[in-house]
Amino acid sequence: MKLAICPGSFDPVTLGHKDIIERAAELFDKVIVVVMSNSEKNATFSIEERLDLLKSCVKGENIEFDTYSGLLVEYAKKKGAVAIVKGLRAVSDFDYEFQQALTNQSLLPKIETVFLTAKGKNMFLSSSMVKEVCRLNGDISGFVPAEILDDVIKRCKGESKND
Ligand code: ADP
Repeated sequence: MKLAICPGSFDPVTLGHKDIIERAAELFDKVIVVVMSNSEKNATFSIEERLDLLKSCVKGENIEFDTYSGLLVEYAKKKGAVAIVKGLRAVSDFDYEFQQALTNQSLLPKIETVFLTAKGKNMFLSSSMVKEVCRLNGDISGFVPAEILDDVIKRCKGESKND
């Protein structure tokens, strides 16, 4: 069974993330979406909130969810994953993602990093852009899945940050 991991901060999940996860689920037998909590300090949504939002809008028989706060390759090794799947938006993503992929390759040579090209319509989408537009009362309905729209708006406009 070929298992892949889709890691990210998902703060919150966007249509871009959802697309990458669902496409990964078509390519692999099983996908685990891992909410990484390494840089909690700057997060708007708590780990539990991010997990709940993901679960309510990303569905698939072979998609599971988890959280992790350590080294990603350790998680991959523990689960027996063959690949880490990342989305590439633009040239701007490449440097950072390539550096991470090479680091992971050197830490765990058996793991492959697979890059999926973002859909054209999602090329500009990021969690931080969604939050910014929402706080400024812009329409984010084209950026996040419909199932979580109200929750994201309530939270971003509420401005109550996590500790
Ligand atoms: P962000 O870069 O928005 O803060 P994450 O750290 O949660 O997001 O990203 C998790 C993964 O999803 C990364 O591989 C990232 O490149 C990918 N990703 C983020 N936004 C998009 C998008 N709009 N289209 C495709 N992939 C994306």
